[in-house]
Amino acid sequence: MENSKGRKRVVLLGATGSIGESALKVACDIPERMEIVGLAAKSNAQKLAEAANEVRPESVCLVDETRIDVLRRALDYQPRIFSGEVGLLEIACLTNADMVLVAIVGTAGLRPALAAIEAGKDLAVASKEILVMAGEIVMREARENSVHVLPVDSEHNAIFQCLEGKRRTSNIQHPTSNPFGAERSAFDVSDVRRIILTASGGPFRETPRKDFDSITAEQALKHPTWNMGPKITIDSATLFNKGLEMIEAHWLFGVEMDRVEVVIHPQSIVHSMVEFADGSTLAQLSYSNMRFPIQYAVTWPDRVPNTLPPLDFSKLSKLEFFTPRYDDFPAMNLARRAGETGGTLPAVMNAANEIAVAAFLNRQVRFPDIWRIVEEVMNRHAPVAHPDLDAILQADQWARNEAQGCVKSRNR
Ligand code: NDP
Ligand code: MG
Repeated sequence: MENSKGRKRVVLLGATGSIGESALKVACDIPERMEIVGLAAKSNAQKLAEAANEVRPESVCLVDETRIDVLRRALDYQPRIFSGEVGLLEIACLTNADMVLVAIVGTAGLRPALAAIEAGKDLAVASKEILVMAGEIVMREARENSVHVLPVDSEHNAIFQCLEGKRRTSNIQHPTSNPFGAERSAFDVSDVRRIILTASGGPFRETPRKDFDSITAEQALKHPTWNMGPKITIDSATLFNKGLEMIEAHWLFGVEMDRVEVVIHPQSIVHSMVEFADGSTLAQLSYSNMRFPIQYAVTWPDRVPNTLPPLDFSKLSKLEFFTPRYDDFPAMNLARRAGETGGTLPAVMNAANEIAVAAFLNRQVRFPDIWRIVEEVMNRHAPVAHPDLDAILQADQWARNEAQGCVKSRNR
């Protein structure tokens, strides 16, 4: 769905964040292909107004109702203003929008994402947490409403590009040697042997385990290759980000968890790879700038010129690949377990991680406590299979309470 000139009309949820900023740059870079018709944020009224004044969407939404006056005063035109969580759902369903880009940190993007799907909007998903939490529901709803789910996360956008040509053209499900994939995926992944997610390894890639206890929030917030919001930056340091991405890949592409692997690639140039049955591997490469995957999600299936620099191979001295330190960074094993068990366990892992990350940033727990808290909460959970949205939200809340308990017990 798009207007006659091939220009996508996009609602951007999370406009004031790191992905939001990159998405606004994409819109300014390719105005003939991307028009922002709605912008939403939580409470940063000033920054939301500045963005709106620049791209002039007809609707804006600020979830925090107490800041609406600040927003109104800072706007230099009169868009339609939505507010509250209801406003977020409304702006996600704007009649004149083709696509909703969900770039809200955490799980608050889930309901608006589902509302957008129901309203027939294509979804560009940066918020991996919502696929981890409710991948089965999001993908099923998307299939039933015939909307596309386009990955913005750089690894998944890379895989999406490597699977180009593998998209099923009809809704009729043909039996294949891989019934799991056939049932769930928009792609025919029967000849995909492995999906290989690349990971930079984060700032502690080479830090000895014995030094983990003394890692500070300041150190963990310094990512070597990507400039991102604080939550995902800590997730990149613990490698929970990669764990979340393993489950994200499982749902987006309909591959079982044991076909999703991770390789450490410190240069962040190869954004992920797909190995096929014949032993060939396809990879996608670019400099590490989120404008690349955001643009592709918006212009797909087309590719259009932009002002981003292409790779200069004469300046790339090396591309390295290493096996992850699974025992020292347990997040990936925890995520594999959560993804393989399925049901409510991934939501529980995600929620416990969110609480543990916040506690680490508040200096309440130490860096390795993040894994310990998540594992403790996962061990206490009795997963519910094929949960509906209520069961997922209940498990999410339960895990948050349990994780808070773990944080408190460490502070006694
Ligand atoms: P940021 O912390 O930089 O930004 C978060 C955005 O979400 C802000 O616009 C914030 O608004 C908004 N927000 C937070 N809570 C709510 C809420 N309850 N309702 C509405 N809006 C809310 O995060 P990032 O941009 O780094 O990440 C966003 C998502 O994208 C995450 O899920 C992350 O995992 C994913 N992602 C990010 C990448 C990156 O490079 N940054 C790469 C790949 C994925 P306000 O400013 O008003 O608080
Ligand atoms: Mg990523």
